[in-house]
Amino acid sequence: MSELKKHRMLIGGQWIEPASGKWFESVNPFTAAAWALIPRGAKADVDRAVAAAYAAFYDDAWRKLTATARGALLSRLADLITAEAGKLAEIETTDNGKLIAEMRGQLNYIPQWFRYYGGLADKIEGRVLPIDKPGIFNFTREEPLGVVAAITPWNSPLLLATWKLAPALAAGNTVVWKPSEFSSVSALAFGELFERAGFPPGVVNIVTGFGAEVGEPLITHRDVAKIAFTGGDKTGEHVYQLAARGLKRVTLELGGKSANIVFDDADIEQAVKGVVSGIFAATGQTCIAGSRALIHRPILDKFVEQLLALAKTARMGDPLDMGTQVGPITTRSQYEKVLDYIRIAKEEGAVCRLGGAPAQRPECGPGWFVEPTIFTGVKPDMRIAQEEVFGPVLSIIPFDTEDEAVRIANGTVYGLAAGVWTTSIRRALTMSERLEAGTIWVNTYRAVSYMSPFGGYKRSGIGRESGIDAIREYLQTKSVWIDIAGNAPNPFIMR
Ligand code: NAD
Repeated sequence: MSELKKHRMLIGGQWIEPASGKWFESVNPFTAAAWALIPRGAKADVDRAVAAAYAAFYDDAWRKLTATARGALLSRLADLITAEAGKLAEIETTDNGKLIAEMRGQLNYIPQWFRYYGGLADKIEGRVLPIDKPGIFNFTREEPLGVVAAITPWNSPLLLATWKLAPALAAGNTVVWKPSEFSSVSALAFGELFERAGFPPGVVNIVTGFGAEVGEPLITHRDVAKIAFTGGDKTGEHVYQLAARGLKRVTLELGGKSANIVFDDADIEQAVKGVVSGIFAATGQTCIAGSRALIHRPILDKFVEQLLALAKTARMGDPLDMGTQVGPITTRSQYEKVLDYIRIAKEEGAVCRLGGAPAQRPECGPGWFVEPTIFTGVKPDMRIAQEEVFGPVLSIIPFDTEDEAVRIANGTVYGLAAGVWTTSIRRALTMSERLEAGTIWVNTYRAVSYMSPFGGYKRSGIGRESGIDAIREYLQTKSVWIDIAGNAPNPFIMR
């Protein structure tokens, strides 16, 4: 344990040790061995970080910066991330076991968010309103909120943090970021780049540690104005309740049980690839996992046969190897949860057609691997079809009509995303209207962009990230009234 690097947290521009004097291990999911020591933050560190962020918010070094200069900082940060993308991707893969091929892709794409919101920083405009009161000039200002608490999960650690940090900073807020306890090393390496880009001390702070010890004091801190959270829906509900006590602004990006719907008029080969990519890419550890494949009954047998054939070819192994297609599960408890759901599905009467067990392949080493798993005979109300597994487990559900497909797809508490595979333009449009989800993909799956809003319907979340409008989640509107007539009307009645 003593050979592992002991990391420090970023507070007020200083790299500091935790007040508790305690660290915890970050474990590499491929080797199942500890590889870094993470500072175990607590309330005292949160208080320091919020104080630093609060002071930075009011400090001229940040507040008096022109919006254009703020944008230039974000753009400089984007250049630094581009230069460090390879190194950061490798850290992420070592920390969370996701494929290096995917993490490199994300790291190379992340700078676009900082460039996009950097460009938006000096286009945040108020309006002059043609007010109905004579003698009054009325205009609005769009102002930052203050200190934003960003709380992020482990599955795409830097991408999901970027979705919060880029608009929050472009809008002029300051940030205290609590990364997941399972993916803190990349967050701390990322933190160094803010310094190098020239952000004033305290504008971005990072406190590592656990949800109850760091997350809760952060959410409930009096000087935190907004919570931007990504994680599971149960945690999200708890975060929402805590935030409500302080009447804080909240955005929540939560889980899903997304349906990938294949009609009999679809290009089957493309649809098979789309369903595989929806569930086995990222080992199913993605909020947008297409964990339910709804298949039109006329093509059911043919589709399942082709799907099994392709899924069987998935190469498992070292996530740092560019040729690996399915990596390990990130944490031991998540690994156990996935195996538990497989057991539940079997008990519920679903038929396991592929996988359904821990991987015993030599290339998987001692890591936490689960075989890509496919169930048929799944009924829409089974737990395996209702609850988020967050692993490589696919439920296949047949349907006969468009109405039935819509009913099944919308029949969960979630609404993050849905896929539709069809060559009919009518179907594409009607399904995209009828499906209750924040993102609809037609003849594609798992596409995101800095330009397009992302977020959930129902229990999948509140608010949107990415796209122009997402910056409004980090702004508040002030209405300014100026009397230009100089004659005060009756002071005893409302003007
Ligand atoms: P999680 O909810 O366990 O943890 C997320 C973050 O919240 C972590 O930083 C964690 O430490 C913190 N946290 C935990 N308890 C807390 C508490 N009581 N108070 C404050 N903070 C607390 O989620 P996870 O296991 O890290 O990630 C997987 C989940 O995230 C899945 O449900 C997945 O669907 C969801 N997710 C959603 C999106 C999206 O954009 N919608 C993206 C990725 C992941």
